[in-house]
Amino acid sequence: MSEVTFTFELPSDSDGYVTFECPFCEAEFKLSAAEYQDDEKPVDELFCPYCGLTHNKDHFYTKETIAMAQEVAQNYMIDQINSAFGKMAKNINKSKFLKMSFKPLKKGNVRELKERDTTEEIFKCKVCGRTEKVIYCAGFSKVFCAYCGVDL
Ligand SMILES: [Zn+2]
Ligand SMILES: [Zn+2]
Repeated sequence: MSEVTFTFELPSDSDGYVTFECPFCEAEFKLSAAEYQDDEKPVDELFCPYCGLTHNKDHFYTKETIAMAQEVAQNYMIDQINSAFGKMAKNINKSKFLKMSFKPLKKGNVRELKERDTTEEIFKCKVCGRTEKVIYCAGFSKVFCAYCGVDL
């Protein structure tokens, strides 16, 4: 089987920021879509602005985003199965001996991700110049740059 790549549009808020979630502390933060997808400065790893731990950027997608991706992938599979079985049924029905009827599988609804505008503060990193939005609350005394991990 050949590999299938899905591309997703991550929803962004009114300022063009996309929500990410730390795989360690599960806190959410936002990064500018333009900076995150900047080809000149490709991003491989992200730092959690709150706990400062780092991981591959793929681990920072929110649970909602992952669920949406699974739904899109599942619908793709259903399409494939429907078309494969549809063809098979046609071929079988050409012969006089076998009859096959096929009822296509129904596709599930893909959730719509909506970006909420919450109260966050925008931080700009002095080292790399990129920005992030963090939900600033009393529990965190430090904020780290999501790109280079420095203490902001
Ligand atoms: Zn964290
Ligand atoms: Zn930085």
